[in-house]
Amino acid sequence: LSDRLTETFRNLRSKGRLTPSDVDGTVREIRRALLDADVALEVVKSFTASVRERALSDEVNKALNPAQQVVQIVNEELVGILGGQQRRLEFAKRPPTVIMLAGLQGAGKTTLAGKLGKWLKKDGHTPMLVAADLQRPNAVQQLQVVGEQAGVHVFAPEPGNGVGDPVKVAKNAIKAAVDQQYDTVIVDTAGRLGVDAELMKQAANIRKAVDPDEVLFVIDAMIGQDAVTTARAFQEGVDFTGVVLSKLDGDARGGAALSVASITGRPIMFASTGEGLDDFEPFHPDRMASRILDLGDILSLIEQAQSAFDEDEARAVAEKIATDNFTLNDFLQQMQQLRKAGSIKGMLGMLPGAKGMREALDNFDEREIVRTEAIIQSMTPQERELPKLLNGSRRLRIARGAGSTVTEVNALVNRFEQAAKMMKTVARGGVPQMPGMGPI
Ligand code: GDP
Ligand code: MG
Repeated sequence: LSDRLTETFRNLRSKGRLTPSDVDGTVREIRRALLDADVALEVVKSFTASVRERALSDEVNKALNPAQQVVQIVNEELVGILGGQQRRLEFAKRPPTVIMLAGLQGAGKTTLAGKLGKWLKKDGHTPMLVAADLQRPNAVQQLQVVGEQAGVHVFAPEPGNGVGDPVKVAKNAIKAAVDQQYDTVIVDTAGRLGVDAELMKQAANIRKAVDPDEVLFVIDAMIGQDAVTTARAFQEGVDFTGVVLSKLDGDARGGAALSVASITGRPIMFASTGEGLDDFEPFHPDRMASRILDLGDILSLIEQAQSAFDEDEARAVAEKIATDNFTLNDFLQQMQQLRKAGSIKGMLGMLPGAKGMREALDNFDEREIVRTEAIIQSMTPQERELPKLLNGSRRLRIARGAGSTVTEVNALVNRFEQAAKMMKTVARGGVPQMPGMGPI
């Protein structure tokens, strides 16, 4: 399907003007792509209707490149519904800030409590987790384990603080947080397998008791078409201030995101991308939009790729790798190219499956390039072509010449070797080469 969509956009791209039937054809493909991504039908309908309307409007017909504009409209509308700019957590003026988690059983609430706790702690906060799920056997223990992994205190029910009554536990936890000066309280709650009146009442009661600054509705990205009924039920039953999409590491294209955001009007704030406590990040509407439409390569193709990357250079390097001829000169050149491609981060964000690289780019340090340049430039041409020559005394000489240390020279050579190895692997798989950023 994605191929078909790509094809549709390609065809559009080569045309000067858009006719209504062009627009209809495109809209049909978008509808298909959305349904394929498990976006709820009612959301698909309203979405495609507004895209069609905008695409047929004067805005597009008078445009220089109408096809590009249709792509842009689709993307803009998606990003718009997904929340435009991402929203940050609201912190209380007077601590503690109370964050309550709600959602079905298995949605990922307890795991999220640990992730949020760890993330907040890293950010200088003093979070505390509260075990207010007294429904599921071992739920308290599970939170304790997660809390320990995150290095965050867990408030668990004990005799005297509300055993058996999640509302009391939550209330007592807030008191304890005030006394012990925790600045954020994350309240884990019970979920059921399906929407359930009893469960909603309990969650609503906890909400009333703790008066949270944020109520985060956690939903499994794989939930598919059920996203709408579940989200509606939680909005009516408890209401929430934000959404967390979990299990985005799975196959789901993320249609649930569009459905929930569109139906509830609440921003998606975080994305959970694995079982580990670090598999978690603020939600990026633009990346999600591309993932839903599977548009990554198309958008980058149209908007950025050509200008950002010098194709001839890239091809020459690819050939070298294929013949096992990748040298430190090439390494340096690629790093410089990377810097030139300042917008590459955004482009990678759109590429489905490029998560690892995105993270690598997030850690990418401009000064690192400068240091690397200095070191490589202190090498003789021969050394650059044949890094194997770099013995101890040569490394010392290079370090002196570059005003760095042998350790740094060693680290660079290691990175180069890793990059060369990695590039050889990816060259076979056809993934874009990004050397110089450490292991990917
Ligand atoms: P809760 O019932 O809402 O508290 O859900 P849990 O936090 O207990 O999570 C249910 C299961 O999903 C556990 O096995 C978690 O390890 C797993 N899980 C949670 N978040 C993610 C995620 O983002 N990705 C993946 N792959 N698994 C997750
Ligand atoms: Mg749980």
